[in-house]
This record gives sequence, structure tokens and C-alpha cells, in this order.
Amino acid sequence: MSSRFEPGASAEGYIPLCVPYIEPHAREWDYLRECVETNFVSSVGPFVTRFEKELARYVGAKHAVATTSGTAALHVALIAAGIGADDEVFVPTLTFIAPANAVRYVGAWPVFIDADPNHWALDVDKLRDFIERECSWSDGVLRNRRSGRVIKALLPVHVLGHPVDMDAILALAERYNLLVLEDATESLGATYRNTPTGTIGRIGCYSFNGNKLITTGGGGMVVTDDDALAAKVRYLTTQAKDDPLEYIHGAVGFNYRLTNVQAALGCAQLEQIDAFLAAKKRIAERYVEAFASIPGIDIQHEAAWAKSANWMFTITLDANVTGCDSRTLMRELDARRIQARPLWQPLHVSPAHVGAVAGDCTVAERLNRDAISLPSSVGLTAEDQERVIAAVQAVIEKVPSAV
Ligand SMILES: *Cc1c(COP(=O)(O)O)cnc(C)c1O
Repeated sequence: MSSRFEPGASAEGYIPLCVPYIEPHAREWDYLRECVETNFVSSVGPFVTRFEKELARYVGAKHAVATTSGTAALHVALIAAGIGADDEVFVPTLTFIAPANAVRYVGAWPVFIDADPNHWALDVDKLRDFIERECSWSDGVLRNRRSGRVIKALLPVHVLGHPVDMDAILALAERYNLLVLEDATESLGATYRNTPTGTIGRIGCYSFNGNKLITTGGGGMVVTDDDALAAKVRYLTTQAKDDPLEYIHGAVGFNYRLTNVQAALGCAQLEQIDAFLAAKKRIAERYVEAFASIPGIDIQHEAAWAKSANWMFTITLDANVTGCDSRTLMRELDARRIQARPLWQPLHVSPAHVGAVAGDCTVAERLNRDAISLPSSVGLTAEDQERVIAAVQAVIEKVPSAV
């Protein structure tokens, strides 16, 4: 038996939700050593350019610009796209909060749309419904009648790694003159009708946070095929320098550059992405198989047009059938040293976004009540996954007699 540390494995029996995968003598070390030995540790260095080029090639985008985080990527992407004060942007209510926050950073407002009951991403039928009932459309301008503000963009999020129905999104965007910015931070490696998520709209964003498919510790990327947008994003992420020698800045820019050290990690991680995706798929398939026969457990269904990245495997519990609600399951798993987590509080009820307009969001509310994400690390061992499955089964069998 090898005694070496197994990434993602259960140190002292604890099974984390979603942690990075870095092997002990991996390429990561070689690249990091190179940074230290060459003294290129900061935001200038060969790994930054290389990471951008390799990620652009991997997803098939013309341009990629690295950023300090996925949130920073969303922020500059919105500015570059011309979204500003008092504009509005359609955002799904069921998502991690970052895209809605980025909309507020530029002085714009999110308009929250419900989740689709099958795939849990932005429900395009409800979006269309909202536009037809609540908005006016004249002279090429879509106006939210409730707020009086102009709606300029659509920000779909490929929730949990599953692609949004992008053809339907693009059709609405075309019809109502909306820019499409994809939040592909959870879906690197996923495809929509064989096209990588993040490259379908005008501009797309990825994240390399520690819990994402590949990590740089923290980091992000903006991708686009549009030369002018890419140039603008690069300019804004590097303090908007017009003349670096004379310190002349043409706009209020940002220090949003990824460092060479982080990009070195990114390059090494990206080399392993196919294996990471295969691991995520294997984990998801085993969970699907294990839970298919348990009444009251449902999953995020993969659409015919989708190849999910299976970022975070999540189930819903119908407490009327299982006798066990999602938070009870979470606490019981926690007692067995297994980390599980609910989905995000829907943003239309978030204290951070009071004042934003929202459509009917009942599906998101139900998903927030019923959903629990299960351990999905790339390095999750088969033994640990069986422990998670057995624990879920045991809790569900135990609880009905207890209530
Ligand atoms: C992770 C994530 C982000 C950005 O995350 P950072 O931690 O800033 O890199 C944005 N949107 C969604 C939906 C995410 O899950």
C-alpha cells in the first residue's frame, strides 16, 4: 500500500465537498519551481500568456484574458460590454451570488428569472414570458415597465456545470437586442450542442477558484472572439495604461491581473482537464445509478443538447416521500464526517439584492429548500463515494421512523 497523500481522499475520515486535485510530485511543482527560480512570480511572466493561449485553444475562443478571479472577470466583461449605471441585466435567481454582484458593481441592476425545473438553469420560457408581459419593446430598446429601466444584457449561468439552452437564449437576445454574457465559471469543459460553454455568447467568463474544475488558487478568465472587446478587457484589467513609462491612464482601470505563480498552477491543471472531467463524469454516473431507485430523490437531469461538466453533483429530496428534508440529511451527513451543502439562497430574496425586479421564482425556492450537493472532488475515491451513498441511504431509511 502506498502511504502517499491522496488528494480529495478522506483525511481522518472526513470527506470534503469539492477540493482541488494536486498530485504530490505533479507538474504543478515543476512549473511553480520555474517561477521561483526565474524570479517571475508576479503579474508579468510566461505562464500568464501561456495559460491564456492554452485555455483559449481548449475552448476554441479567439481571445482569453486572465483575471484575479471569476468575479473580476464578470466585472470587467460587463464594463467592456458597455453595461453601466441604471441598465438592467437578466440573471438567474438560482446561482452563486457573484454574477448579480458584478452587475451592481457597474451600477446596473439584475432582473431575476426563475430556474428551469429539469436543468435548474435560467428558465427561458419564464424569461420570454417576463419580456412579453412586463417589458415594452420599441425603437430597438427593451424597457422593464416595473422599474422603467432599459434591459441591455442577458447573463445566463451554466449552473453546476450543466449548459443553459443557449439557442433559445440567443434567439431572445437577437430579437430584443440583448448582449449575451455567459457565466461559465461552473461549466468549464461542458458543451452545448458540441460547443464549449463560455464561447457561445459575445463574451464568457471562467473561474479557477479552489472548488472549481481546475484551480489557480484563485483566478478567472474572460474569453471572446471580438477583438475590440478583448482589447478593452485587457486594458481594464491592467490599470488602463495608455503610456506605461509616463504613467498615463486613459480610464479608471483595475489591477485584475493573474500572477505568473497562479498561471503556472493553471497551466499544469489545464493539462489534466480531460482526466478531471472523466473523474467528474464517473462520480456523477455512480451517484445517478445509486439514487435512481430511491423514491423521492431527484437529480439535475442532463438535457439532450447538453454535455455537463458534472461540476457538483446535487440531489433534491422530496420530504413528503423520503420523510427526510434536505437540511436533516445535511446534518446527518455532517455527523458522519461527510460535507454536503444546500444550493444558494435565491437572489430575489437575498438581502444583498433588495430592490431588484424579479419574475415568478417558485422553482428556485423549491430547489433551495430541497437540494443538497454531495462530495464531488476530482480525487474522491470509489471507497469514499460508496461511504457517501451508504450514508444517504441509511439516513433516509432511518428518518421516517424518527418523525
Ligand atoms: C465560482 C463562481 C463565480 C466566480 O467565482 P470566483 O470565486 O470569483 O472565481 C461566479 N459565478 C458563479 C456562478 C460561480 O459559481
